[in-house]
Amino acid sequence: MKIPSLAGFFLSALIAMGVQQAVSAETSVPIPKPSGVERKAGSAATTTKNAASPRRVNRNAVAKAVFGKAKAPANLKARAIGSYARGCLAGGTSLAADGPSWQVIRLSRNRNWGHPAMVKYIERLAADVPSIGWRGLLVGDMTQPRGGPMPSGHSSHQIGLDADIWLREMPKARLSGKQREKPRYVSMVRKGTKRINRNVWTDDHAKLLRRAASDKQVARIFVNAAIKKALCDWATGDRSWLRKIRPWYGHDYHFHVRLSCPKGFAGCKNQAAPPAGDGCGKALAWWLKPEQKKKKTKKKKTAKVKKRREIRVADLPQACTQVLAAQ
Ligand SMILES: [Zn+2]
Repeated sequence: MKIPSLAGFFLSALIAMGVQQAVSAETSVPIPKPSGVERKAGSAATTTKNAASPRRVNRNAVAKAVFGKAKAPANLKARAIGSYARGCLAGGTSLAADGPSWQVIRLSRNRNWGHPAMVKYIERLAADVPSIGWRGLLVGDMTQPRGGPMPSGHSSHQIGLDADIWLREMPKARLSGKQREKPRYVSMVRKGTKRINRNVWTDDHAKLLRRAASDKQVARIFVNAAIKKALCDWATGDRSWLRKIRPWYGHDYHFHVRLSCPKGFAGCKNQAAPPAGDGCGKALAWWLKPEQKKKKTKKKKTAKVKKRREIRVADLPQACTQVLAAQ
């Protein structure tokens, strides 16, 4: 059975059940990592043992519960702490719910926070979007006010340097509060296939992704493999930006931008650079391959049964305890 298809099946099933909100395409299904494929997020845990417990922070608490409750940012100097999937954010700033050429959706999640570098990046990208033919962007999940693990959805998005941007033009009329909570989502991939849906995919989508990836601060952009394939086929001339566009599960109605660690701050861990080249060859072929051996399906089931240990505050970098303790 094909792994991405299975993920797609779960996603469709959940959506059919009306629980789309709870699902994040990138993390909805625990999928064993195929060998030879890069990791999406740095997984090395920065564990600090035997550290003195600062006041008011229970370092044994489940991290996603504590960080999920933080309503406001830590009033500290802006700093991305740890790695994309194991860290937190000091001095986060929020992206305005509305800008001249963007709208943030699902405001109730309070995830429109990020490192100032990310907020500036989105503002920069949104400002350029009219020049590619769109009136604006729909911005999805960024980070919680203090970053950290989230109670639902993503495994990364923890240090303020990840953001989901929808592959859908901002509508003419501003979305109402209700519409923002349940935006219509359009998959760029033909149902049950690994092919782009030409009825919805346009050159403007490709131009947007090229523009998004061409920014120097961007480390990676995750998209569905069918989208990467469409970009590989579309790109002419300079193809260097394609290196940053990486295939991943889901990501068929939004793309995920990941910025590099801002310079000059120790304790923010970059992921290794993507392999050299445009990534359009063998590696992509693996993602687009139609079948998967039965053996893998069995493995997957075993992996699913195994319950992962919850990440505790103490499993995050020590500085994240200060982030929680800060005013
Ligand atoms: Zn994401």
